[in-house]
Amino acid sequence: MTELATPPVEESTGVTRISHWIGGRSVAGTSGRSGVVYNPARGRQTGAVDFASVEEVDRAVQTAKEAAPAWRAVSLAKRAELFFAIRELVHERREEVARILTSEHGKVLSDALGEVTRGLEVIEFCCGLPTLLKSEFSEQASSGIDVYSIRQPLGVVAGITPFNFPVMVPMWMWAPALACGNTFVLKPSEKDPSASIWTAELLKEAGVPDGVFNVVHGDKTAVDAVLEHPDIKAVSFVGSTPIARYVYETATSRGKRCQALGGAKNHMIVLPDADIDMAADAAVSAAYGSAGERCMAISQVVAVGNVAGPLIDAIKERIPKVKVGDGMDPSSEMGPLVTREHRDKVASYVEGATAEGAKVLVDGREGAPEEGFFLKPSLLDDVKPGMKAYEDEIFGPVLGVTRVGTYDEAVKLVNDNPYGNGTAIFTRDGGAARQFQFDVQAGMVGINVPIPVPVAYYSFGGWKASLFGDRHIYGPEGIDFYTRGKVVTSRWPDPATSKVDLGFPQTR
Ligand code: NAD
Repeated sequence: MTELATPPVEESTGVTRISHWIGGRSVAGTSGRSGVVYNPARGRQTGAVDFASVEEVDRAVQTAKEAAPAWRAVSLAKRAELFFAIRELVHERREEVARILTSEHGKVLSDALGEVTRGLEVIEFCCGLPTLLKSEFSEQASSGIDVYSIRQPLGVVAGITPFNFPVMVPMWMWAPALACGNTFVLKPSEKDPSASIWTAELLKEAGVPDGVFNVVHGDKTAVDAVLEHPDIKAVSFVGSTPIARYVYETATSRGKRCQALGGAKNHMIVLPDADIDMAADAAVSAAYGSAGERCMAISQVVAVGNVAGPLIDAIKERIPKVKVGDGMDPSSEMGPLVTREHRDKVASYVEGATAEGAKVLVDGREGAPEEGFFLKPSLLDDVKPGMKAYEDEIFGPVLGVTRVGTYDEAVKLVNDNPYGNGTAIFTRDGGAARQFQFDVQAGMVGINVPIPVPVAYYSFGGWKASLFGDRHIYGPEGIDFYTRGKVVTSRWPDPATSKVDLGFPQTR
């Protein structure tokens, strides 16, 4: 493999080559395979990302393995100091990475900055690592015997991440993993890989030793090499449900610990007593923000009783005011979709809605900018279970409305859905909201909050087909996931009391 100090810009084509990061430096791939990276607002290729071979993944894992003994031996004080340095650098350079996100993902700059800030919260949580890794001690568990628990790192762990949060979702993984003393191999989305290289350079600048954080780019070949590698002890995955299921089943069958977060179909229930303007503001923000490419986006409004008419009117009134355009333009509120293929797939749900019996109230295919992968917001009414627009995770700016008569019917819709990521209820009735929190089968619940992404000191994760595994990501469950417990039973005996005793150890 050729090693390069920095990835070169190929002047003749204007296409940047994006290489792997192994052992603290950029390493050009040699598999001969690569992927295309676009600027979605222009619809033009801006990058070519190297796709790793099995051997290249192995090299990254071996490098992480070699770095592991020294990294786990770094004192908690020193590791915490490094995390404070990382925190300062990310904070200082957030606008720089936000521009990278906008140029490859398409989300508007303000939203990209929001992504960095939410990721930063996870790093800030990890600055408290000495406290997070404290354990228990029982003095005199038996006569002269003390018992205590310790939490130790797993070794080399890996993260596989989706395109929609190219800097934040990796932070959900590498920050707690490194804080706990593990070394890390990241396989980011091949659609917007540059934020991972930015992260690698930043961690080096902050003082994280070479080999502790590595990046291999690629597709299924690289993912399978991670899942099969005997030296990787745990895999965190975030992406679509079919791949999450595959990753979970493969990783666990190879004896690895795995948390695999999947897709979503998030319902927002609006009760008849809700504040209509507030509910409409929330629905428009949560459905069309980041062009609907959020796993916590609201894609289905469930209007209970007579709230449907006024609520739909209020949503319709707001949609034309959403400014769609290049994310680099500060006046844009919604950018393009990530690729042309994805844009066309999302548009197909609007195309097919009428034939399925739904009503297209606002058609986002009309008037969208022609250059780039744009769609404007769409609104569908009378969307029902069984229709494609209801059953699929559309992952684009298409909001469906389902009309039901009662609260019970609304909750049944959410509970019958195979996904269980996020959900929200809009109401002024505290009793109804509390009942909803009790009844609903989803991992993250909003009460008059449309996108209830937990703060960094709680953990993030859905239920049902939105998460495979038993540990949610980041927060206390993230610390649990990246460590394993050991219990020590200790005695400092007086030699005079020593004797042979073949009985089972007793405590009383
Ligand atoms: P994706 O499943 O296509 O890709 C995720 C990762 O898996 C990427 O790194 C990709 O390279 C890899 N991958 C893709 N196909 C593969 C295959 N056949 N075998 C092995 N690996 C493969 O997801 P995406 O399109 O990048 O992201 C969007 C999806 O992620 C949506 O479904 C969204 O809901 C979900 N998501 C979920 C959460 C959550 O927290 N639950 C958060 C963000 C995104």
